[in-house]
Amino acid sequence: MKIDTLVIATRNPHKTEEIRAMVEGLGITVRDLTEFDNCPDVEEDGATLEANALKKALAAQRCTGLPVIADDTGLEVYYLLGAPGVYSARYAGEDATYADNNRKLLQSMRQVPARKRQARFRCVVAFVAKGQEQLFEGKVEGDILELPRGEQGFGYDPVFRPEGYTRSYAELSAAEKNSISHRALAVEAFKAFLQS
Ligand code: IMP
Repeated sequence: MKIDTLVIATRNPHKTEEIRAMVEGLGITVRDLTEFDNCPDVEEDGATLEANALKKALAAQRCTGLPVIADDTGLEVYYLLGAPGVYSARYAGEDATYADNNRKLLQSMRQVPARKRQARFRCVVAFVAKGQEQLFEGKVEGDILELPRGEQGFGYDPVFRPEGYTRSYAELSAAEKNSISHRALAVEAFKAFLQS
């Protein structure tokens, strides 16, 4: 499928930059919702990452008229039966900051032994263009650290150590994170679809 422009349905500059770097080289102009004042914020009230990603992508496609991708990501901690999952953004409350969410997570995992700290990031990317809807998924297994580490990235990056690494996501450079992350895997699947 051939597209010239792709709108990332987000106002989060971290996400735009991550995804822009991933689709570089495809000859696609990348824009995001900061360029479209007429696009309303969408309430992420779906029961699943898939529902939220699709809702965001459909709304953004409708108001921009352009091909769109939206992602929804959750950190799924096995010991917490999949929480915070689809509620990752507001784990510590409606207006929670990244630091509030990390604090709550570390508190919930206090004294949980290393072998029970496994977690995964799961990212769902929804692509919507006229007459097209597709979903793509990327997952990265790892574990929850006992204390936050690192300054890079955003969200739960300082408390998540991807499997096979001694460093947290927040201790990886942007290029390193972008080469292994849940979002990268979902965007890779999307790129494969575009090129098929
Ligand atoms: P969203 O709804 O996809 O924006 O993501 C929900 C929440 O998951 C965000 O508020 C972040 O806390 C977290 N999150 C999403 N992507 C990442 C990531 O790549 N690293 C760390 N945390 C993330």
